[in-house]
Amino acid sequence: MMEVLLRLLVTQVILLALATSFVSCYDPNPLQDFCVAASETNRVFVNGKFCKDPKSVTANDFSYSGLNIARNTTNFLGSNVTTVDVNKIPGLNTLGVSLARLDFAQGGQNPPHIHPRATEILVVTKGKLLVGFVSSNQDNNRLFYKVLKRGDVFVFPIGLIHFQMNVRRTRAVAFAGFGSQNPGTIRIADAVFGSNPSIPQEVLAKAFQLDVKLVRFLHIVFGPPLW
Ligand code: MN
Repeated sequence: MMEVLLRLLVTQVILLALATSFVSCYDPNPLQDFCVAASETNRVFVNGKFCKDPKSVTANDFSYSGLNIARNTTNFLGSNVTTVDVNKIPGLNTLGVSLARLDFAQGGQNPPHIHPRATEILVVTKGKLLVGFVSSNQDNNRLFYKVLKRGDVFVFPIGLIHFQMNVRRTRAVAFAGFGSQNPGTIRIADAVFGSNPSIPQEVLAKAFQLDVKLVRFLHIVFGPPLW
């Protein structure tokens, strides 16, 4: 009896260990100190980028300047996101982190979007932001939201739809860290109504319970330029 229980316990421990390793297997640890991304001379990719010869790596490969500078927010969203990922800092290659600066005009917003490869952690350094994310259908699409002031931090879990909006009559600034060298961004409106070629109008009309005329209008707003 004792032996059976012991065997059951050992099996459970092994299963738990396996489950844990499956959960963490999508972002492997680097096999070396660093793997500074080399310029892309051909179209073959190794974990995103080739590594530069370590002997020719300098401090500049790990550096970026200018994130203190406010960006132009004169666009229809009233916001500007400056990403500092592996394309800006080649030394981030294989290291699994990156950064962004978010500028907001009065009333500006970073519209509902997803990062397919990273969780985001954001800190407000100026102004006030209403931020939130929506959980999956299995969790009944609950909205988790908060108004953040200077110094407040919020986390947006990987793959969940989220947004940020300036709710004060001043500019707002935030910085965000990501758990990927290349988190990627999918703006929902762009992806759904602005795909190239377009998702058929009947699909979108039924899916979003919209008149086909409105779908056509949204295609024009979010779609690629017609010329
Ligand atoms: Mn985001």
